[in-house]
Amino acid sequence: MQKNNLAIILSGGKGNRFDSPIPKQLHKINNKTIIQLSLEKFVNSKLFNNIIIVSHKDFIKDTKKLITNKEIRIIEGGKTRQESVFNGLNKAQELNPDNVLIHDAVRPFFSEKLLIEICQNLTKYEGVVPSLNINDSIRYNLKNNYKNINRDNLKLIQTPQGFKFKSILEAHKKFKKNIFTDDSLIFYKLKKKIKLINGETLNFKITTKEDYKFGKLLFKGAKQMQDIRVGNGFDVHKFKNGDTLKLFGIKLPFTKSLEGHSDADVGFHSIVDAILGALCMGDIGNHFPPTDNKWKNKSSIFFMNFVKKLLVQKKYKINNLDITLICEEPKVSKYQKDFISSISNALELDQKLINVKGTTTEKLGFLGRGEGIACQVSVTISNNEK
Ligand code: ZN
Repeated sequence: MQKNNLAIILSGGKGNRFDSPIPKQLHKINNKTIIQLSLEKFVNSKLFNNIIIVSHKDFIKDTKKLITNKEIRIIEGGKTRQESVFNGLNKAQELNPDNVLIHDAVRPFFSEKLLIEICQNLTKYEGVVPSLNINDSIRYNLKNNYKNINRDNLKLIQTPQGFKFKSILEAHKKFKKNIFTDDSLIFYKLKKKIKLINGETLNFKITTKEDYKFGKLLFKGAKQMQDIRVGNGFDVHKFKNGDTLKLFGIKLPFTKSLEGHSDADVGFHSIVDAILGALCMGDIGNHFPPTDNKWKNKSSIFFMNFVKKLLVQKKYKINNLDITLICEEPKVSKYQKDFISSISNALELDQKLINVKGTTTEKLGFLGRGEGIACQVSVTISNNEK
């Protein structure tokens, strides 16, 4: 963008409604303070030649410690929001910007698209302000005077608000003594036309503790979406003489048994390997080496408990498990429900998230000749951070 754009980010609040000695903008959401979240949107957009943060004087040291980028100017605010903006505009005179976007730091959830739209509109208009229609019913209620207000002509006004620098500076100088809640109103006093563009529902202002909680939830949701992992497990055990099989923790009467160092539960072994895979933590053999006699004849429920605990420790939860047993015999369909119920109990996982199916290899290969059973498992897990 060739234009000389400046951003003024207001961080002047003391957070009286937040019930905390630290102001809202210095509270953290997902390891970053709210002011950092707002600031990084402006920086990442690359639309701005200069950025000024106007901080409350009591927190200027903390803000400077937090924001180490030397290109960002941090100056002291005034007693009111309006005074703080004025301080920012005064400081900006030395930078001689064409446009200025003024933003309240406690609205960290606006999109880069909104910044682009405001800057684009400033090529045609002197003032550009995001606004939202009101969907709830509005009542006027004072001293039992309870009246309806037509919401059609009402707008919720947001920041960032964009202005031609010279005009907004002139407006602030001229109406210094009047108190306004935002810059668009001061600008309007100059009889300047303002272009209202669509605001964003997510661009809410973090005012109360509830807003803060909601903001954290938003990030939690996004983080979970980003952190979905897949794991694969595959295991084979061959048949030996015997009369019972152990599959997914269930003992089944059969004409043969499975051979293995532990209880040869091919189903549980593959599930354990799939979960270890999703956690990037190696395989069952790394954790329970077959060379170690400790694990000889060990019941596989022990390995299942181990990965169940690992998931909790690493803050992951299972989204779904898809399991395929590959064998000629026994008939998987006969035990499908029992297998699901046993897996569900072992992992304390909803049965609806578990799928067990069976297939054969059409009499081909060792599985087709009925020499053993193979099991293949896919699992997806996602971040479960509270
Ligand atoms: Zn095995």
